[in-house]
Amino acid sequence: MSRIVLASSNPGKLAEFNDLLADSGRSFVAQSAYDVPDADETGLSFVENALLKARHASRISGLPALADDSGLCVDYLRGAPGLYSARYSGGHGDSSANNAKLLHALDGLPTEQRGAFFICVLVLLQHADDPAPLIAEGRWYGRVLEAPRGNHGFGYDPLFLPDGETVSAAELAPGLKNRVSHRGRALAELRHRLDAPHT
Ligand code: IMP
Repeated sequence: MSRIVLASSNPGKLAEFNDLLADSGRSFVAQSAYDVPDADETGLSFVENALLKARHASRISGLPALADDSGLCVDYLRGAPGLYSARYSGGHGDSSANNAKLLHALDGLPTEQRGAFFICVLVLLQHADDPAPLIAEGRWYGRVLEAPRGNHGFGYDPLFLPDGETVSAAELAPGLKNRVSHRGRALAELRHRLDAPHT
């Protein structure tokens, strides 16, 4: 069984990644098990930040490392809140303040101009100096509602109406959301890439 350090301190993510790769001969270990502190996320894009986090975790642990970075990009706001999705309103992870700020920024905007997508980027490095990282990306398109709906999920889910759905991301059953979301798609792509025979 080969070990990969997960460059995150979120136990939910550790479980999700281990679940996905359960039968693949790989297991994920939290970076805290190797005393890896959080990396400085100084990149200007999701892929840069995921690379920074994976490289940092791999360098300190001496193991292959996987990092993810995700957020919500709103067309009308030229991609904001983007990299700053977790702290859009100032405090880190204050979802109701973030959602209130987003509603305010789009106040009065007609439906057709409320397009947005969630994005998740995953980066896997075999070692800290790996020049050929494996990169997987998932996007989930939809639009921003005019008022929150639903109680499942987290973050911006109550304000996100996925394309082709009549309910918000926070009204979807969690299992279904995880399959169709940006994260679900990125994880499926990662699995596919890991399983592909080397050419
Ligand atoms: P992280 O990359 O998991 O830290 O996520 C960054 C931020 O993006 C979160 O704090 C949320 O605000 C937002 N976000 C990412 N994925 C989702 C999602 O699936 N639903 C709602 N918000 C999300």
